[in-house]
Formats: sequence, C-alpha cells, structure tokens
Amino acid sequence: MTRLECTVASCVHNSEKCCCKQGILVEGVNARESCDTCCGSFEENRGGLFKNLFKTPETRLQVDCDVLNCLYNDDHQCRAERISILGDGARAVGQTECGSFRER
Ligand code: SF4
Ligand code: SF4
Repeated sequence: MTRLECTVASCVHNSEKCCCKQGILVEGVNARESCDTCCGSFEENRGGLFKNLFKTPETRLQVDCDVLNCLYNDDHQCRAERISILGDGARAVGQTECGSFRER
C-alpha cells in the first residue's frame, strides 16, 4: 500500500489533501514526464454539496498504474512508499498528474 497525498481539491474524492477511495488507477502508458500521467479515478466535484460527508480520508491506498516505464511500477502496481497526485483546480482527468513519476 502506498502513502498518498493529493492536492486535487476539486476532485469529489479529495478530503484534507488525501484521497477517500481505497484504490485509484494512474494512467499514462507512454509517459516520459509527470505531466504525461494522470489520475484516472478523478471525478470533478461540481456541486460541492455531497463532498465526502460520509467518507474518511485514506492515507494508504492500493495504487494500480498503467505507467509501465516508471521506476516504481511493478506489474501494473505502484511500489513507491509514497506518492503525490497533483492538479490543483483540475476540471478533467488530464489536468491531474502523478508528481512522483520517475522514468525507468
Ligand atoms: S484526483 Fe485521484 S487521488 Fe486525488 S482525490 Fe481524486 S481520485 Fe483520489
Ligand atoms: S510513482 Fe510511478 S508507478 Fe507510482 S503511481 Fe506514479 S507513475 Fe505510477
């Protein structure tokens, strides 16, 4: 399990810079840099009304990842001790990224 911080406050799953999902999928099959990756589990929080009222921030998550040329990828799973998902103000999946990507 990976410790995850997430700055995407506009995501419905975000609470207190953490993700409330138990697992996410990071995408970016041919990524060469962080900006080529994204959090495929992002969903825009449009209304703000239902924001995580009954959810608990998870500090450790299962991170599935398509970015096979990242140093931390092991058979589609992230093995980094901790990662940061970035994208303050994101309105779409492509405006998020895994800031911890390191090219193999
Ligand atoms: S952008 Fe991804 S990691 Fe961040 S809160 Fe949303 S689903 Fe979780
Ligand atoms: S650090 Fe690498 S393996 Fe882990 S989620 Fe980010 S891009 Fe995927």
